[in-house]
Amino acid sequence: MPRVDIAIVGAGPVGAALAALVAPAGYRVTVIEARTGRSGDARTLALSQSSRDLLETCGAWPAAGATPITEIHVSQKGGPGRTLLRASDAGLPALGYTVSYADVERVLEERLGAMGVEVAYGTPCETIDLAQEAARLRLAGGDVIDASLLVLADGGANARRIPGIAYSEKDYGQVAVTGPVRTDRPHGGRAYERFTNQGPLALLPVGDRFALVWAATPAEGDRLKALPEAQFLAELQARFGDRAGRFVSAGPRASFPLRLRTINSTIALRTAIVGNAAQAMHPIAGQGLNVGLRDARALARLLAGPGNDPGAFATLEAFRAARARDAGRGVAFTDFLVGAFADDRLVPTWGRGVALTALDLFAPARRLLATRMIHGAPSP
Ligand SMILES: Cc1cc2nc3c(=O)[nH]c(=O)nc-3n(C[C@H](O)[C@H](O)[C@H](O)COP(=O)(O)OP(=O)(O)OC[C@H]3O[C@@H](n4cnc5c(N)ncnc54)[C@H](O)[C@@H]3O)c2cc1C
Repeated sequence: MPRVDIAIVGAGPVGAALAALVAPAGYRVTVIEARTGRSGDARTLALSQSSRDLLETCGAWPAAGATPITEIHVSQKGGPGRTLLRASDAGLPALGYTVSYADVERVLEERLGAMGVEVAYGTPCETIDLAQEAARLRLAGGDVIDASLLVLADGGANARRIPGIAYSEKDYGQVAVTGPVRTDRPHGGRAYERFTNQGPLALLPVGDRFALVWAATPAEGDRLKALPEAQFLAELQARFGDRAGRFVSAGPRASFPLRLRTINSTIALRTAIVGNAAQAMHPIAGQGLNVGLRDARALARLLAGPGNDPGAFATLEAFRAARARDAGRGVAFTDFLVGAFADDRLVPTWGRGVALTALDLFAPARRLLATRMIHGAPSP
């Protein structure tokens, strides 16, 4: 029966980045992936400078496909106030970068191949047995692997199999309709976040166009996806206004369900749970993968240097403690934004306007917000 030091379930961006970070320390690492090949997922991700630094450390930053975000324009439909967050607020050349999920997946896969890290594609993990000496995984096809440390980076597919581990879920009753759109004006590196009573709408600069993320009810999402291009552009213009120019074309649209999911513990016997498997959040503030990559970095730091038992309780407990505050704040921040801008009873329209204007006028607050969005909350 194969025995490894670290078995990572899930070769999504968090699992693959973790494998690239820990393999140089000399551990025997194996990555188990349900997909038979690349997902080619079309979603656009806004990644912070600190996520870029981490992927560069892995040797897997998709530089050719990355677009810098130099400003973020935040406004609300039907209310006053707006804020412009600038890269200079954080003293950086860019607040973040847009990249495609597919590009991140590809460069990480290539990097793992070059490092000689085995990725077992098309082998979903089917059962998990945890014991003092090892975590035992059974894979589709019958293979069994014993690991000193099991890392679940599978987006939430397997943690429920572990006794005592449970998720809390909140369905936002929304989907994100995504797709490329063009305007008649250059974006100049500016991203837009526009809050409406029906849900937030974001435009992210990508190359010479934008990536649209439009939150809507599932029925509305289906309708928006099916609209002819001209009608879709007209509805988008009406919802978004003309601050980015006139919308002139839209590419293929996809939709993703939006829900918040948190876990009661990010560790179990010989197990650490990272990325979306630990916390899945609304994409409103572009935090999900950024938080997940910080999970990977924290765990990799604790595992630096071979010779130690990677699944030792002390290591796992240190990981839990290191990540609790930052991950909790990422979840709370995005959940607050969704509620605050959707529900006038929580924060009235004028109150949001005052907050946006105050933020715009008060540089230290903008700096703090930009720094938190880039680096997360510091560990206690
Ligand atoms: C529309 C949208 C926009 C977003 N925008 C942003 C953004 O701008 N910025 C940001 O930071 N985040 C964003 N996110 C969130 C981001 O996509 C996720 O946080 C990120 O993909 C999580 O990565 P992960 O590796 O943890 O999980 P995933 O990407 O879900 O990968 C999990 C992997 O595990 C594999 N797997 C599943 N089950 C099994 C099994 N049984 N055995 C083996 N393998 C298995 C899957 O095939 C997959 O490859 C967005 C999300 C959406 C939906």
